[in-house]
Amino acid sequence: MALDKMGFNSKLIHAGADKDQFGSATVPIYQTSTFGFKSADDGAKCFSGENDGFIYTRIGNPTIQALERQIAILEGGFGGIATASGMGAISTIYMGLLKQGDHMVSTNAVYGPSRVVMESYFSKFGVESTYITTSNIDNIKKAIKPNTKVLYIETPTNPTMEITDLEACVALAREHNIITVVDNTFCSPYLQRPLEFGIDVVLHSMTKFINGHADIVAGMIVTRNEELCKVLRSAMVNMGCNMDPHQAYLVLRGVKTLAIRVERAQQNAIKVAEYLENHPKVEWVKYPGLKSHPQYKLAQKQMDGPGAMISFELKGGFNAGKTLMDNVKLAMLAVSLGGVETLIQHPASMTHSKLSAEAKEKANITQGLVRFAVGIEDVEDIIADLDQALAKV
Ligand SMILES: *Cc1c(COP(=O)(O)O)cnc(C)c1O
Repeated sequence: MALDKMGFNSKLIHAGADKDQFGSATVPIYQTSTFGFKSADDGAKCFSGENDGFIYTRIGNPTIQALERQIAILEGGFGGIATASGMGAISTIYMGLLKQGDHMVSTNAVYGPSRVVMESYFSKFGVESTYITTSNIDNIKKAIKPNTKVLYIETPTNPTMEITDLEACVALAREHNIITVVDNTFCSPYLQRPLEFGIDVVLHSMTKFINGHADIVAGMIVTRNEELCKVLRSAMVNMGCNMDPHQAYLVLRGVKTLAIRVERAQQNAIKVAEYLENHPKVEWVKYPGLKSHPQYKLAQKQMDGPGAMISFELKGGFNAGKTLMDNVKLAMLAVSLGGVETLIQHPASMTHSKLSAEAKEKANITQGLVRFAVGIEDVEDIIADLDQALAKV
C-alpha cells in the first residue's frame, strides 16, 4: 500500500521502516562516521549529487534519513532535517533564513532559549526582531516592516496556552513575501499540521511528544518545498547541528506509539482540566479543550485535539505554588513535557524565576501559575495526587 494513501496511525508504523538486506523490522543503527565509495567515479557522483549515496554522517546517515523521511511524511512536508536538539533546529532556521539587516516577528511567549538565541546572538550580526502577542493578528500587521523576512510562531504558547491563527498568519505573510515558521512541539503532528495551512517551515523539539520517553534530546525541521529544504540542510550540515544515529534510532522507536500516547494523555488531560476548573483553590484553568479558553473555537479549527498541556493559577499565589510543588507525589517536579510521565512545574519560582517582576507581568507569568504536563498514568491516580497536594496548599 502506498504511504500517501495510509492513515496517520499506519504511517507511524510504516513510514520509518526501511527494510535492509535481512528484512529487519526496525532500522539498524548505522554506527559509522564515514562511507566508502565504490569507485572514483561513484565518489565524484556522490559529491555532485548525481548519486544519492552516503558520504559522511554529519551530511547524512541511513538511520537518520529514515527518521527524516518519517517525520516529513507525518507533517505532510517535502523533506525533514534532523538536528541534535530542538534548539539545534531553531538555530539552523535562523542561520539559514536570516541575514544582516533582516527582521523577524515572533510570539512574545515563545520558548525562552529561542528568544535568547535571537536577542543575544543574532542581534550581534545585525538581525532585528520584534516579539508580540501573535494571538492578535493586528499586532503582527503592525510589527511587519519592509525588512521583515520571517514570521516565527509558537501555538499554543508555553505556559500561557495562547493560540495563534495559522491561516491568518499565512495570508498576511504571503502579502509581504515573508517565510512562516511554526514551532509545533506542543502539539506534535498528531494534533496539528501547520503545513496544511500553508506554513513554510515546521520544527520540533522531538525531546517532547515525538520521542515521548524522556530519554533523549533531539530536533527536527520539516519544510514545505525543496528549496527551503536545501537551504536549511546546508545550514545544519555546515554548522554541525546534526543528529547522532543512536538518537535517530530511539526516536524511530518512540514515534511509533505517538498517536496512542497523545490520545491517552489527552483523555487524561481533559478530565484533569475539568477537575481543576471545579477546585475551590484554583483561580482559573487554561486548556484549549475547555469552553472557558478564550480561543476555544480557533483551537477546534486548527488542532485535532486540545493536547496534554494545562496551565492553572492558584488563588494562594507564589507560596501556594511552592507548597503544591513540595507535596505532589506522583507528578514529577521537572521541566520538559510530552513524555509518558506526568510533570509539574511552577514558572515563577523555576523556569521564569530570573525574570524581573515587570518582565514576568509582561509575559503573563503570574505568581500562582502552574504548568502541568499530563502523562499516560491512570487518570484517577493523577487526580488523587493533585487532590491530596491541593489540600495542603
Ligand atoms: C523543549 C522545547 C524546545 C527546545 O528543544 P530542545 O530539544 O530542548 O533543544 C523548543 N521549543 C519548545 C516549544 C520546547 O518545548
